Amino acid sequence: MSDRRVDHLLRIIWMAYEKEAPELKAIEKEYGNDDFSEVLQLLIQEKLVTVKGDEIQFTAQGKRAGEEIIRRYRLAERLFADLLEIPQSDYEWLACNFEHILSPEVTDSVCTFLGHPRVCPHNRPIPQGKCCVSFVNDVKPLVQPLTTLSLGQKARIVYIFPVHKKRWGQLHQFGVFPGNTIKLIQKRPSYVIEIGGTTLALDDEICRDIYVKKLMD
Ligand SMILES: [Zn+2]
Ligand SMILES: [Zn+2]
Repeated sequence: MSDRRVDHLLRIIWMAYEKEAPELKAIEKEYGNDDFSEVLQLLIQEKLVTVKGDEIQFTAQGKRAGEEIIRRYRLAERLFADLLEIPQSDYEWLACNFEHILSPEVTDSVCTFLGHPRVCPHNRPIPQGKCCVSFVNDVKPLVQPLTTLSLGQKARIVYIFPVHKKRWGQLHQFGVFPGNTIKLIQKRPSYVIEIGGTTLALDDEICRDIYVKKLMD
């Protein structure tokens, strides 16, 4: 399936599904181009979706294809937003192009490189790939949980999974947010980091949600 428009529409339908049961009209509006009917026909021909009245449904095959495309798109978002720090207005367009050019192998490399992120910068789920469940990997992650640092290692916070969001307000005050530099100074009995001249003890759980990039000094 090399048609970019097919990929694009698949992603639009997928994202509509995440919000609510999608109606054809809403999807057409979101798709935004006047070749909507033509591309929808392609999707139907390729047995990716079925349409009954105003309702659109993924086939099993379509669901797999949608999962792949959304995975590529959101990994690209993660890459552009967190690592390259490209502003949102630009990275959404980039991710849109990126989703068409990543091969499955490269996608898994990007995922590994990013430490197998579970959500995109908008906090929407990234479907897992083979790389996320297997432990055999040739690519060393560039971004990894804080817990993997060695003592004395300095690192920059790249992103934080908002799983334990309630507890973040407080940490934010101490400067625990993306872009800031930390140094790991203790692992046992609990994690202690140095940040902005103060030391801070953190729960293991929280540390696993903080993804960092090692800094050379
Ligand atoms: Zn996103
Ligand atoms: Zn992965």
